[in-house]
Amino acid sequence: SKGIYDLAVLKAIRTIPRHVFFDEALLKYAYQDNAFPIGEGQTISQPYTVALQTQLLEILPGDKVLEIGSGSGYQSSVLLELDATLYTIERQYKLYQKAKQFLTSFGYKNFNCFYDDGSKGLEKHSPYDKIIVTAGAPTIPNILIHQLKIGGKLVIPVGNKENQIMIRITRIDEKNIIQDSFGTCSFVPLIGENGWNE
Ligand code: SAM
Repeated sequence: SKGIYDLAVLKAIRTIPRHVFFDEALLKYAYQDNAFPIGEGQTISQPYTVALQTQLLEILPGDKVLEIGSGSGYQSSVLLELDATLYTIERQYKLYQKAKQFLTSFGYKNFNCFYDDGSKGLEKHSPYDKIIVTAGAPTIPNILIHQLKIGGKLVIPVGNKENQIMIRITRIDEKNIIQDSFGTCSFVPLIGENGWNE
């Protein structure tokens, strides 16, 4: 009813038990359509937002996807349910470790977790079919566009530290992109070389 029409995305959201990503004290909120704390001052994204970003990426089975901001690993699981090959980066060590542990325990195989500043992307494994940024950026880092394949898509919230606009970039050739906007959202800040200062 909020505009998620991609049946594969809805199925993935229905399949993944969101409560496993929650601390005991917050368990009763696990199936509310809101963001909640996951420690280290960070949040698990709202299910609607996870679904929207995933739908905008138009994931095809086998797509090579870079996720910047692993957080709890919930969005990562949705991408893996859609048969993406996932490279996910997190700058908070404890969250990096926890997300890696979750994804392994769920039995997913096609993923690699990295502990680093994802605002620089992940050159080593580029180019990607899709890039998703799950933290709010002040501007669109050019380096991420350069790490996309031609025809690839980048979905990134861009704005100030409180509110952002959901942007989708499609790289149509070496020099040209198409930019579309998909309403307002509110993410924790992307911190790093091409994000906000800590
Ligand atoms: N999608 C995640 C989920 O489903 O739980 C939520 C991600 S949370 C809203 C944003 C995450 O981005 C936080 O865990 C934060 O530490 C991380 N982050 C912020 N800046 C980053 C950067 N430069 N590189 C990698 N991760 C970053």
